[in-house]
This record gives sequence, structure tokens and C-alpha cells, in this order.
Amino acid sequence: MQIRGIEDLEVTGKVVFVRVDFNIPLEQGQITDDGRIRASIRTIENLRGRGARIVLLAHLGRPEGSADTKFSLAPVAIRLGEILKCDVALASDVCGASAQATISGLTNGSVAMLENVRFDPRETSKDRSERAELANCWAGMGDLFVSDGFGVVHRAQASVTELAQALPSAAGLLVHGEVTVFNKVLNSPERPYVVILGGSKVSDKLKVIENLIQSVDRLMVGGGMCFTFLAAQGKSVGSSLLEVEQIDNVKAILATAKKQGVDIVLPVDVVVADKFAPDANTDVVSVDHIPDGWMGLDIGPQSITEFVAKISDAKTIIWNGPMGVFEMPAFATGTKSLALAITKVGAMTVVGGGDSAAAIRLFGIADSQFSHVSTGGGASLEFLEGKKLPGITVLEDN
Ligand code: ADP
Ligand code: MG
Repeated sequence: MQIRGIEDLEVTGKVVFVRVDFNIPLEQGQITDDGRIRASIRTIENLRGRGARIVLLAHLGRPEGSADTKFSLAPVAIRLGEILKCDVALASDVCGASAQATISGLTNGSVAMLENVRFDPRETSKDRSERAELANCWAGMGDLFVSDGFGVVHRAQASVTELAQALPSAAGLLVHGEVTVFNKVLNSPERPYVVILGGSKVSDKLKVIENLIQSVDRLMVGGGMCFTFLAAQGKSVGSSLLEVEQIDNVKAILATAKKQGVDIVLPVDVVVADKFAPDANTDVVSVDHIPDGWMGLDIGPQSITEFVAKISDAKTIIWNGPMGVFEMPAFATGTKSLALAITKVGAMTVVGGGDSAAAIRLFGIADSQFSHVSTGGGASLEFLEGKKLPGITVLEDN
């Protein structure tokens, strides 16, 4: 299935709505990380260069369906103007008189934003007809729609799905790039195909494991979720993160892996701590001897060596989820070592997951060291689960 790209659209002189994910972190009104704004600059510049009149649609935070200045896009519009080196007008409403006047004031190549789309309850309404009503209100003020907010394409929301159906639409460069990479690794991976999963819970990623186990050659499991795997093998895991109710599911996964010939790689040693704190007492122990009362917060040095060896011949690597509590320096070594090792393998390397991407940034490893670092945590997980994403389906040619 092909998705339409922006090169398919005649944009000159047209009012083009562009849905972006500008849901950036703010502290006391200051943007602490503008990565999400920068991720859509290529699309915006492309459309500007072709003489489009650009109207950006975005959400910020969870304003509960009414205007709340705390969630105004004003700081975002200012930062975007600085990056683009042009004025970015911000309408004071979502689809009212101010939006109309702002759009009327656009000239070819200029850029404006409407206020936080979640100020309107119809944006996230469960009722499709309410979402369509809001989308039609926008469609009446413009010509084309471009979907470039990868962080929201797994949501059925007015500015993501219904607007794409109300106007001629296409995927922006960011969304197109993300979809191309995920389709490639999921549908025609070069082998050996290795997936590394970590993060906190098995339950968060159960569907990802169940989907990927059908196609991968090797599945390596670290992070908090490895303890449920170790427990499923009959080991005692002390006070480590354990989801007792997932043990049967994990046993089923282990059985499927055996049947499919998938190599499941678990840690052989872990860094344990006597409390969940940066200054905890720590030790390195075999996974067969995790002491009562201690919790595993990182994979150990022997595991790092084995994991690194198991990715060295890979041609495709998907990594989702940190190997340990990387936010605390004492438990960051596993994640950092593996991240660096992935950058050295001559493979297609894809990083999915919000915290995994945050870990890379924390370690100062450039995104360019990987083939692809996904900008959408939830959306990338749903891709890995093998789901159809509503915001992508509406961009597909039949
Ligand atoms: P991602 O966002 O990349 O998909 P997750 O949200 O699943 O990752 O998990 C990230 C969190 O998992 C991090 O906050 C990290 O501290 C936590 N984590 C990793 N290993 C452990 C562990 N051994 N025990 C508890 N928490 C862990
Ligand atoms: Mg996360």
C-alpha cells in the first residue's frame, strides 16, 4: 500500500493545513526541547518554497476541550518564527473569526498557526460526526491537507483523520519517512533481523512481542520486563519489577519462540540495588542469584558483552526500550553501551519509543548515528504491534 506524498499536491497559492506534532515540553512558559518543532521544518520549508499558504494545526498538553491559556501555542509560534526566520501569526481560536481572518491574511509562502486544536472538544470526540463537523469547518477555509504529526497518527481525531478525508491530502516528509522505514523493517527486513526490547513492563509491549516473534531471528530482552521472563524460567527475581499476571503470557511467548526457531536472549547478570534511588548500594549478580530484597535496575557487564555479540552480524535492528533505569547514572551503563554498539553495526537501525529516544539524547549520541529515530512513541509501538494506524490509512491510495 502506497501513501500519498506532498509532491503529489499542487500547492502554489493554496491554503494548506498541516497537522504537526508540536506537543513540546514547557517549563514555566519556556520550551525545554524544541525537537518536535524541528522535526517538521523540512515539510514546512518544502511547502513554503512551493508557494503554499500554510496553516499549522497542533495540540499542546491536555486542555480538556476548552480554551486555557496555560496550553496556548503562543510560545511555539514564537519559536517556530525564530527557526523559520519569518513571522508566524497565531489565531486566537481554533476555527472561529480569528482563524478565518488569519487565513485570509496569508500570502504565498507565509505560515500561520491556529490555537491548540484541543481547545475544541470536537477534536478528540468519540463521536465521528462531531469530529467531521470540526474538520468541515477547517475544510471550508482551505484547500489541501498534509499530515506531518507522526506522534498523533495512531489517533482518530478531527485534525488527523476527518480532515484528511474532507480535503485532498498527503503525508508530509516526516510522516512519509517514518512510514517508509517501519514498512521496510516490518515487511521486508534484511536478515539477521534482531529486535531489542526493554523498558518497564511486559504488559506495555506484549502485543509488540507477539507480533515480532513471528518474523524476527533474535529477540533480546532487557529492562524491567526481563524479570518477568526470568521468573517464567523459574528464577527468583528479588524485589525487581515483576508482573506475576504476565508469567503465563511470557511462557507462551517462550514456547512460540522455540517452535519458530527464534533465539530469545536474556541477561545473564544484572546490576542490583537495595533501593530505587540514585545513591542506592549496588552489586552485580548472576540472574540465578538475585538476593531477596534487592532489585535489578540494569543489565550487567557479562550481559552487555553477550548482547553486543548478538547484534554484531545483524542487518536489521529494531531497538525499543531502555535496558535499565538510564535516568540514574548508576544504572545507565547497559543502555548506553548497547546504544553505542548499535551505532557501530552495519545494519538498518531503528529506534522506537519515547524513552529510548530520550536516552540517546541524554547520552549525547546524535540521531544521525542511527538509520532512523522515530519521533512518535505511541505510534511507533502500534506500528510494531502490526496495527493499522487510522491517521495513515486515510492517506493510502486504494
Ligand atoms: P520507551 O518509551 O522507549 O518505549 P518504556 O516507556 O517502556 O520505554 O520504559 C522506559 C522506562 O523503563 C524508563 O523510565 C526506565 O527507567 C524504566 N526501566 C528500565 N529498566 C528498568 C528496571 N530494570 N526496573 C525498573 N524500571 C526500568
Ligand atoms: Mg515510554
